[in-house]
Amino acid sequence: KGGEISALDFGSFPILEEKDHEGKRIVYLDSAATSQKPMQVIEALSGFYKHDNANVHRGAHLLSQRATEAFENARVKVARFLNAEKETEIVFTRNATEAINTVAYAWGLMAGNLKTGDEIIVSVAEHHANLVPWQLIAKRTGAVLRHIPLDSVSQTLDIEAFRKMLSGKTKLVAVAYVGNVLGYVQDVKRITEIAHEVGAYVLIDACQAVPHMPVDVQDIGCEWLVASGHKMCGPTGIGVLFGKERVLKKEMAPFLGGGEMIAEVFLDHSTFADLPHKFEAGTPSIGDAVAFGAAIDYLNENLGGMKHIHTFEHQLGLYLYESLSQFREVTIYGPPWHNDLGLERVGLCAFNVRGIHPSDLATMLDLDGIAIRSGHHCAQPLHRDILKVNGSARASLYVYNSSADIDAFTGALVEAVAALGGELTIRPA
Ligand code: PMP
Repeated sequence: KGGEISALDFGSFPILEEKDHEGKRIVYLDSAATSQKPMQVIEALSGFYKHDNANVHRGAHLLSQRATEAFENARVKVARFLNAEKETEIVFTRNATEAINTVAYAWGLMAGNLKTGDEIIVSVAEHHANLVPWQLIAKRTGAVLRHIPLDSVSQTLDIEAFRKMLSGKTKLVAVAYVGNVLGYVQDVKRITEIAHEVGAYVLIDACQAVPHMPVDVQDIGCEWLVASGHKMCGPTGIGVLFGKERVLKKEMAPFLGGGEMIAEVFLDHSTFADLPHKFEAGTPSIGDAVAFGAAIDYLNENLGGMKHIHTFEHQLGLYLYESLSQFREVTIYGPPWHNDLGLERVGLCAFNVRGIHPSDLATMLDLDGIAIRSGHHCAQPLHRDILKVNGSARASLYVYNSSADIDAFTGALVEAVAALGGELTIRPA
């Protein structure tokens, strides 16, 4: 066992005081699915409804002005957080899934940028959110969906294979920044540069990156980047689509119509609002956006910013990785933590224990108050076709975890495996 790693000075997360059925503190190791929320965010959400609630952009009255200001302020915070050039490049959506679908439909279908024979490139390791929308759009447009394989050594995207797939037919490359199963950090700047060489556009699914490390959309150079508020201490119901102004403005046509997104409406046609409202039809998740802004303030101000969080999680992630890899019978998926390939992993381990079903494992651990996830983690093709398993168990960390949580987890894991008729033995050093 390594030295003790305390959690960051995270303040109050009321839910982390919750007890399991035996009165023990719940150890939450499922933040890759969704993070827990600090008091600052809970109060921002209830504060909005207590003091400022009204619909945005429409009313002349005081509350509507306050609500609009709070909502638009949140947009500015998101823009700065991602280092977007302008806040008008930030579109609020319900979640990352909706953000990806917005690009697929508004750019691919409505604006006619994808045609028969055009190619869309994703990877074999994508979350369903970055796979299924492209399957749907490919079917509609006659475009062809292709998949970057994994490099067998690095367990990250095979960049040489990717290069060979590119041609004048490639219109779009859509890949995850951080793998939600394999835990890798992909060099998305390099992928973007390579894709741009053939004139393809790039969408980065940064759901598992934005909560954990500094992300800079201008540095990456991608056309679009998406994330979800709920994985970064924000509420559910709010996500973000960053898009380069030129692309959002000139190369995407709205696909959801209604209020908020129009300039003028006639009985038979309409003109559309400026950015970003053109893609925000209907009443948005106002309170959730405001609380998302509070989550960004919390990460920046209370936790010392993303660099600090990244350094902390790197240390804790290593402890998780080493704690699990000490067992002979455990297979952790994704790149090895220690490698000379310049690869980085995040604080997330999807794994299997030889001879034990991952859902049995998660159920047994739950009896001990340990919350991990099991299943295919919305990456069924990766599990079925590449890892050749039906599912895996996954433990994932965030700012409120400590090495004590990981010790509780591995201690309970040894007992759970024994109770399920298996055994965990220590690998020789
Ligand atoms: N992409 C990745 C890599 C994810 O981990 C997730 C969330 N599990 C999503 C997309 C989808 O996020 P949401 O469900 O919030 O839209």
